[in-house]
Amino acid sequence: MLDGRDVVVINSCAVTNGAVKQTRTAIRRARRARPDAMLAVTGCAAQIDPASFAAMPEVDRVIGNGEKLLPEAWASSDALIVGDMARLTEIAPHLAIAVDQARAFVEVQNGCDHRCTFCAIPFGRGPSRSAPAGAVIEAIERVVAAGKNEVVLTGVDLTSYGHDLPGSPTLGSLVERILVRVPSLPRLRLSSIDAPEIDGRLFELLTQEARVMPHLHLSLQAGDDMILKRMKRRHSRADAVRLVERLKTARPELAIGADLIAGFPTEDGAMAANSLALIDDCDIVHAHIFPYSPRAGTPAARMPQVDLELRRERAATLRSASARRKAAWLDSLMGTEQQILVEAPGNRGHSTGFADFRLDQNHRTGDIISVTITKDHLFGHAA
Ligand code: SF4
Repeated sequence: MLDGRDVVVINSCAVTNGAVKQTRTAIRRARRARPDAMLAVTGCAAQIDPASFAAMPEVDRVIGNGEKLLPEAWASSDALIVGDMARLTEIAPHLAIAVDQARAFVEVQNGCDHRCTFCAIPFGRGPSRSAPAGAVIEAIERVVAAGKNEVVLTGVDLTSYGHDLPGSPTLGSLVERILVRVPSLPRLRLSSIDAPEIDGRLFELLTQEARVMPHLHLSLQAGDDMILKRMKRRHSRADAVRLVERLKTARPELAIGADLIAGFPTEDGAMAANSLALIDDCDIVHAHIFPYSPRAGTPAARMPQVDLELRRERAATLRSASARRKAAWLDSLMGTEQQILVEAPGNRGHSTGFADFRLDQNHRTGDIISVTITKDHLFGHAA
């Protein structure tokens, strides 16, 4: 409550133009539902374009990403408090931790120093900043003491971890310190990472340490070298394929996920076919596929665009290929024993490789249980 009024906070997203549109719809809906509340907007879309949100009659306050965790920003009566993200040097006054009933997400890094041509995130989140290992370890000790069996390390550009800290520690060294200092943590998972930036120690831990989950989500985006170049990505198709081969040779059960964009500007049929083939070549079983959506102000938005219908068609083709690959992977798990982290409401959960299974009876959310997988554990299969 602020000044005697309830506060509704809308955390906006700028990842696509569609996300910005959804934010505006959510603002209008929230205002209709709570006509008397103070309505504040924060997050990346508000950071990138604060004036357009401040101009909405439904909005009382716009608060930037750099200010949203500062009590003084909320105590101020200014309608617009949005600083320059490029000048931020610290991750946040408090390490951001999100918990659901089963696991904890610990944000160890924020911001990004890269400039992929399709992406507006660096303008919303500012330069790469990392949380010192001591603060991360303390946070993880707290969530493990509170009963969490799985921690996910998150960040906008996770593999940039440490560049800004004294001694430039790597993500691999952070993971190693967590494993040593929090021996009671059973499962540590990484969120999306940049394929070419896996350091040597991280590779060893991913492939040799049972407490590091055999699941890696790679920010690949495309499987064609010309498109990767136009995206200003920092890896080639061959780099991605070679990395996955090395990882899976060392730890065959490692499950690969990837983000892929369908119909990036200038993508022709042969280029799209290269991205499609990447699903098999990198054994991608967890795919996040998006038809390209231009973000205002980015270089890709000024490149020759692929017809929207074609982008959608290519996204659908990629989705069916990845669904086929995932089905074959799940099939290969039949009869194996999997350690499942039980999720709410207690009758489902994820394996170490992040396969989503249903459970035949209710268990306590957050527990890890051992299950011999049958077809009855698959979603979409009649029990
Ligand atoms: S590395 Fe990720 S966050 Fe950074 S510019 Fe590229 S897509 Fe955006």
